Amino acid sequence: MNGQREMTELLRLVEAIYHSTPELSEFGEWPSDLSPAQIPQKHIPAANIIMSLPDKGVPETQEIVQAIQEAAPFANWTQTYTVEEVGQDFLDRYGYFELFGPYGNFHTDHLRGFVGFWDTNLDYGWHDHEAEELYFGLSGSGLFKAEGEENRRIGPGDAKYHRSFQAHAMETIDDHFLCLAFWRGSGMADLPKMKS
Ligand code: ZN
Repeated sequence: MNGQREMTELLRLVEAIYHSTPELSEFGEWPSDLSPAQIPQKHIPAANIIMSLPDKGVPETQEIVQAIQEAAPFANWTQTYTVEEVGQDFLDRYGYFELFGPYGNFHTDHLRGFVGFWDTNLDYGWHDHEAEELYFGLSGSGLFKAEGEENRRIGPGDAKYHRSFQAHAMETIDDHFLCLAFWRGSGMADLPKMKS
């Protein structure tokens, strides 16, 4: 299938950084049952923005950013919000895809790994979900807000954890934010949704 080589290379690099970054490897064991899955490909406008990003983050993240740019044309880009909820501008400049997990390019039920992107000046409103979550910045930065915590700017190489049902939000200001996000535990197969 088109894009299999690019997705496999991206998975290899994500696994490597997962093992070499303590905050990631402590989140949960890397799945041992990953197998390629046949899933659709869906293009969205944000994929074009990602493909032309000049910013590759920091030395530890630049190979992954490059691999995401090469895999972007083949990904099953997803948006879980409607124009009524977030507006057209948000939908034109945000998106994510599941690299591995219950519905990803590689199947496993033990951990879920996404690639996420928000372009400049987007406000990703408050939401929560049952699954525990770990964000990992790749390029650009986002201002993270989480219930009970100080706001924190997350950039390339930074990790941010959200416990089960901890409300959180994220805002990009003068910068885009390209990241990985991992989910584990109960509710892992649910959709990330903002409170309406
Ligand atoms: Zn979340």
